[in-house]
Amino acid sequence: MSVHAPLAGVLTDAEVLRAASTDRSGWAGSDPGGVVRPREVADIQTLLAWAHRTGTPVVARGAGTGLAAGAVGVAGAIVLDLSRLDRIVEVDVDEQLARVEPGVITADLDAAASAHGLMYAPDPGSVGISTIGGNIATNAGGLRGAKYGVTRDHVLALDVVLADGTLVRVGRDTIKGVTGYDLVGLFTGSEGTLGIIVGATLRLIPRPTRTATATAYFADIGTAARAVTAITRSGARPAVLEILDGPTLAAIDDLERTTLRERGEALLIIQTDGFGAEEELDVLTTAIASLASHVQTATDAAASESLLFARRRALPALEALGRTLIEDIAVPRRRMAEAIDRIAAIAREEGVRIFVFGHAGDGNLHPIIVTEHAPADAPVPAAALRAADRIFALALELGGTITAEHGVGRLKRGWAQRELGPDVHALQRRLKELFDPRGILNPGSSI
Ligand SMILES: Cc1cc2nc3c(=O)[nH]c(=O)nc-3n(C[C@H](O)[C@H](O)[C@H](O)COP(=O)(O)OP(=O)(O)OC[C@H]3O[C@@H](n4cnc5c(N)ncnc54)[C@H](O)[C@@H]3O)c2cc1C
Repeated sequence: MSVHAPLAGVLTDAEVLRAASTDRSGWAGSDPGGVVRPREVADIQTLLAWAHRTGTPVVARGAGTGLAAGAVGVAGAIVLDLSRLDRIVEVDVDEQLARVEPGVITADLDAAASAHGLMYAPDPGSVGISTIGGNIATNAGGLRGAKYGVTRDHVLALDVVLADGTLVRVGRDTIKGVTGYDLVGLFTGSEGTLGIIVGATLRLIPRPTRTATATAYFADIGTAARAVTAITRSGARPAVLEILDGPTLAAIDDLERTTLRERGEALLIIQTDGFGAEEELDVLTTAIASLASHVQTATDAAASESLLFARRRALPALEALGRTLIEDIAVPRRRMAEAIDRIAAIAREEGVRIFVFGHAGDGNLHPIIVTEHAPADAPVPAAALRAADRIFALALELGGTITAEHGVGRLKRGWAQRELGPDVHALQRRLKELFDPRGILNPGSSI
C-alpha cells in the first residue's frame, strides 16, 4: 500500500521498501508504504503533524544495524530514515561536549573528538556502521562499557520531534542539572516509540593517553567467568572486559585461519586505559594468574588492537556458519558461570548450536543460536525458538534481564512484558499513550 505524505521525495521503489522492511536481526517485516530521507528538521515536523492527523504509522530508522527488529517497516507506514541528518554541528573543547545530528556515524563522532584529544566513549561493536540516533534510541552499550557505561551516561540533551510534530528540547548543555523529570533518560532507549531524536548534545571525555591490553585463556568457560569475579574484586577497573567461549574461538579460527582455540577453551580480553594503564593491567593479570592457562599482554596501540581482533571477528565468524539468532541477556556478574553452564545444557537438550561471547564486565552475554543457512523469511526452526525462550527464562530466574543493550523491538515484546510485570508494564503503556496518543510511533515495537 502506498502512502501520500505531504513531502516531496517519498521513495516507493521496490528495493528501497524491501531494504526498509528488515534490519540486522534478519527479521522479515512488511514493505512499508514509503521511505523518506529528510535533511531538515522542519520536514520531519511536517511529516509527523500529518501522520498524527491521519493516523499513519512512522518508523524511525538510523542505519538499520539493530538486532531487535525495531527499525523495520510495517504495512502502510512511512519509514523515516534519519541518515541524511549527519552533521557534527560542534565539538566544544572547553565544555567537553559535542552537538550532533542523529545520522552521524558513531565512529565519525569519535574521530572528530579525537582530533581535539577527546573521546566519545560508547563504542558498540557496530561503531563504524550505526548512527548516534540509533545508539541513543536503543541506549547502546559497547566494548568500553565496563568502565564508561552505556550511551545514556553520555547524553546531556536531546532535540525531539514529538508525535504531533512539536519540536522540544530536553536536558541541557551543562554537565549537571536536575530541573524537572529526566526526559533525556526516558527518550534514551525508547526505540522510536516516544519521539524522533533530531539532535543531541553528547558528553566527551579526555582521550586516554595510554592503553594496555591482555588476552587470557582458560581451561573452561566457568573458570573464565570466575576470573571475571577475581577482576571485579581486584580493585582495578578494566575499560574493556570481553569473554568468548571455545566454540566461538573455533569459528573465528575457521574464518581467519588463526589458532586461538589451541590456547584454551575460553578467552578473556582485558584492556585498561589512562595514565596508570600498565600498572592497572598488572593488578588485573595478577588477580587471575592462578586461573589462566596462558596470558599475553601488549602496551602499544597496534599490538593492543591486534589482541582485540578476535572479539571484533566473533559475529562475522558465526554468521559465516549459518543463520544467527543473536540474544542479549545480562545476569549479575557472579552468576555468569552458572548462566553459561546452563546455556550449554539448553543447547544439548534442544539439539542446537549455541555460541557465547559478550561484555563480561557488564554481565552481558550474547548467546548466539546458529541454525542452517536459510532465507530471512524462512521460519526459524522450532528447537532454536525453544532454546531462545529457555535462555530468556534463565536470565530472569538468575535475576537478570532479557535484553541488556539491543532493545526489545518486535522480537521480544512478550518477554519484556514478563520481565516488567503487569503494574510496571501498564505504567509504561500509559507513558506511551501520553507521548503518542494516536499510537503512530513505531507501533508493534518495544513495550
Ligand atoms: C556487527 C554488529 C555489532 C553490534 N554490536 C553492538 C554492541 O556492541 N552494542 C549494542 O548495543 N548494539 C550492538 N549492535 C546493534 C546495533 O548496532 C545497535 O542497536 C545500534 O544502536 C543501532 O543503531 P542504528 O543506527 O543502526 O539504528 P536502527 O537499527 O536503524 O534503529 C534501532 C532503533 O532505534 C530507533 N531509532 C533509530 N534512529 C532513531 C531516531 N533518530 N529517533 C528515534 N528513534 C530512532 C529505531 O526505530 C529502532 O527502534 C550491533 C549490531 C551489529 C550488526
